[in-house]
Amino acid sequence: MLSNPLALIAEITHRCPLHCVYCSNPLQMAAAKSELSTEEWLRVFRQAEELGVLHVHLTGGEPLARADLTELIVGAHAANLYTNLITSGIGLSTGRLTALVNAGLDHIQLSFQDSREDAANSIAGTRAHAHKVELAKAIRKHRVAFTVNLVVHRQNLDHLSEMISFIEQLEPDRMEIAHAQYYGWALQNRAALLPTKAQLDKAVGIVAAAESRLAGKIRIDSVVPDYYRRGNSGNGIRKRVQSFSGMDLARVVGLSSFQGRRMDAGALPQLRSSRGRFRRV
Ligand code: SF4
Repeated sequence: MLSNPLALIAEITHRCPLHCVYCSNPLQMAAAKSELSTEEWLRVFRQAEELGVLHVHLTGGEPLARADLTELIVGAHAANLYTNLITSGIGLSTGRLTALVNAGLDHIQLSFQDSREDAANSIAGTRAHAHKVELAKAIRKHRVAFTVNLVVHRQNLDHLSEMISFIEQLEPDRMEIAHAQYYGWALQNRAALLPTKAQLDKAVGIVAAAESRLAGKIRIDSVVPDYYRRGNSGNGIRKRVQSFSGMDLARVVGLSSFQGRRMDAGALPQLRSSRGRFRRV
């Protein structure tokens, strides 16, 4: 029997200004008008507190697309939830950053696509890299915990050491090196993204060396691709996944909680394009 969840993954929107080729957003995204309202989310946070949840991850899509994000953070903080913003950083000015921290934000996870600007912008489908670098510097000026997330795959794994060095100079408390997981757009682009076994083996060694070298300075967490994972990756963390349409409050176990649990109402067909070797929304 499972006990109460400890963390709530709140997918507050599917909207996002980026177009990452490995995005886990569903291929048929729900419309903005079907998002839960501010009041509904505040109620969810209070209910989460009553369930014993300690931690909320505000994610999407891009949570900054919600104009009421500051209000949501105030509500999550009032519900005694440790509040984490999982973001690409697009839409976050220094002024808005200050407002979110003042509202009670505890932690920011900022995603990077690569250490190399051209490659990062190519994967994201927009010019986002330079802004992220500047934003990382601004985040470090605040009393907020900071994680840098880097998504790795066949196209960038061969310069993993360079990417780790790049993240180091951003001075996060934690770095997350996450292989693309094969849902949504990543599944569509699997042939171009799935690393070879040799790439993966080399990467595991590089990450282990970095963990040892950075011990006590930057914590490193890594996630391997689904296809190379042995057994259940569950790490014992209990989470709930709440889609923004409010249709699926699923109790799940472990980091695989993002996977295959969405049943969004009001899904609308989305235009897609095929550029080069990748498909993206
Ligand atoms: S993976 Fe990229 S496109 Fe998808 S929600 Fe995150 S930042 Fe947006």
